Amino acid sequence: MTNTPLHLEPGLYVTATPIGNLGDITYRAVETLKAADLIICEDTRQTAKLCAAYGIKTPLKAYHEHNAARTRPGIIKKLQDGTSMCLVSDAGTPLISDPGYKLVREARDAGVAVTPLPGASAVITALCAAGAPSDHFLFAGFAPSRAGARDKAFAAVAEVAATLVFYETGPRLCACLEAMAAAFGERRAVVARELTKLHEEFREGQLSELAASYKDAPPKGEIVVLVFPPETKPVTMEALDYFLKDALETMSVKDAAAQAASILGAPRKSAYARALKLKAGS
Ligand code: SAM
Repeated sequence: MTNTPLHLEPGLYVTATPIGNLGDITYRAVETLKAADLIICEDTRQTAKLCAAYGIKTPLKAYHEHNAARTRPGIIKKLQDGTSMCLVSDAGTPLISDPGYKLVREARDAGVAVTPLPGASAVITALCAAGAPSDHFLFAGFAPSRAGARDKAFAAVAEVAATLVFYETGPRLCACLEAMAAAFGERRAVVARELTKLHEEFREGQLSELAASYKDAPPKGEIVVLVFPPETKPVTMEALDYFLKDALETMSVKDAAAQAASILGAPRKSAYARALKLKAGS
């Protein structure tokens, strides 16, 4: 951190704050929070604790679901008039299952500069240490609380070939895991709890095992659930031949093999070799 105060251009600075451990804030975030004219936050008492810890004296203004529609036009006007403002949420990255989307959208529409200051978010924190496949993931936020809507939401993502990441609360966890086991079948999952805090825990198992383990002891604290992708079944030779013969009627060997790889999940090299053979045979 430098000693000279940062000079901030006017605009909206979307600033990530810690998700538990107070140390998880960037130098840039602290300097920007200090230099801004105003900090817009969900709960002023919560953000005041962070400010006290880092000697940030910038005024705070509450912006949450109950006053957002009413206060947003005034905030946008101030931004257009040249004010620099940080947007923070109670924890983690604003807009990620937190308020801020409409403010960012309207600020951009009004020609205001919007600058992201990246940092902690529970979804990435969970994913980087849970040991679930991380090359593709789908962040689904909070599942709906009503059972019918929740089952529908799970059915919609059951076949997605990616790790599914959900936010959840302790009291709802067991019912959520049971509904997941019904919708996704027996898939592996990780419950990541109290990340970056004293009682941080990663519990891994099949969905039904995890549900059973929480049945009589709903966990305390904040939770991320990660569900492993569905198993890909190996493609049979019959299915590959059927697909390739059809594809080769209109495509080159290379394109037919590429399609078999992306649509059937067949290994690209063997799909190419098989397509060559079928082409030569015909
Ligand atoms: N904006 C935050 C972010 O970037 O992660 C998320 C805010 S959302 C209102 C709160 C939810 O995030 C919690 O109910 C929990 O599912 C998840 N969460 C936040 N902090 C967490 C932590 N330390 N450990 C596990 N989950 C956490």
